[in-house]
Amino acid sequence: CSSTTPITATLFPGDGIGPEIAESVKKVFTTAGVPINWEEHYVSTEIDPRTQSFLTWESLESVRRNKVGLKGPMATPIGKGHRSLNLTLRKELNLYANVRPCYSLPGYKTRYDDVNLITIRENTEGEYSGLEHQVVRGVVESLKIITRQASLRVAEYAFHYAKTHGRERVSAIHKANIMQKTDGLFLKCCREVAEKYPEITYEEVVIDNCCMMLVKNPALFDVLVMPNLYGDIISDLCAGLVGGLGLTPSCNIGEDGVALAEAVHGSAPDIAGKNLANPTALLLSGVMMLRHLKMNEQAEQIHSAIINTIAEGKYRTADLGGSSTTTDFTKAICDHL
Ligand code: NAD
Repeated sequence: CSSTTPITATLFPGDGIGPEIAESVKKVFTTAGVPINWEEHYVSTEIDPRTQSFLTWESLESVRRNKVGLKGPMATPIGKGHRSLNLTLRKELNLYANVRPCYSLPGYKTRYDDVNLITIRENTEGEYSGLEHQVVRGVVESLKIITRQASLRVAEYAFHYAKTHGRERVSAIHKANIMQKTDGLFLKCCREVAEKYPEITYEEVVIDNCCMMLVKNPALFDVLVMPNLYGDIISDLCAGLVGGLGLTPSCNIGEDGVALAEAVHGSAPDIAGKNLANPTALLLSGVMMLRHLKMNEQAEQIHSAIINTIAEGKYRTADLGGSSTTTDFTKAICDHL
């Protein structure tokens, strides 16, 4: 698409601080003149029997139709008889890869200033297959599922991502020395795909060693690809390296070209409705969505405005040590545009 053709995208403002930070995204996108019409969908208060979830069939259809969306945090209501909202989205939309860039923000000081890595997490299986049962009283079992099809799919995505984004190295993260069959198959698939990309350096790193290397010298890593559980943990560890959950974006990639960008953090009930939330993570997720849509000019403009606002240090939300409200911080970004 060209950068001026209007696009319809699904927007899930979500729960808690979600509507406040979604409002910030809408304001910044409008100021930057991004040609997007938002189709807004809220989490329902009743279970939709067609999805067995508080997400309605119409909401899922909206993403399937538009093929692109932005999602705020969703708090899964406690109780039986329904599926987790995030799991429903992943399963129903077949969102097989979760991509999280983690890079040092200029002007916001953390322990490292040279982090620039991408974690790519397999999103559909592994320990998160939802297959748990009691064998006998006092003994439970959880099944870790690794398939050749899902492993090849995420490995292919990681190498393709590396190639098309000027990255030089892909590290497969595993524990195949202990989990020889499951992680062994995951590695076998990564090796197969690596052979098709001789220009990309391929390496394998055991998960425990990977954690140690990440906290000691994160600049050692470029693109990391891994099964579901390791990806969940490592991606939060990486978020911590660059300043926390309020800053890190992500994008879920599905089959048929579906992309659902989302902030990594939750609904932050402790600060919801107080105009205190940092909208950066959702804004940067919106930037990932724009890059996916090849609206690179607007993506760069918004990205620079966010970075410059944070670097300037005049307007920062409380999680970054400042005292600005969500609306003041948003206004400062708009002023930078
Ligand atoms: P959380 O991420 O909501 O909050 C953890 C801490 O980080 C809180 O102190 C919160 O105030 C702070 N925080 C988070 N985002 C922030 C932001 N943008 N700006 C400033 N501070 C921010 O994690 P939690 O408390 O464990 O979870 C709350 C709810 O969110 C739960 O119902 C959980 O299920 C849900 N959740 C949803 C998602 C998702 O939709 N992807 C992810 C994680 C948690």
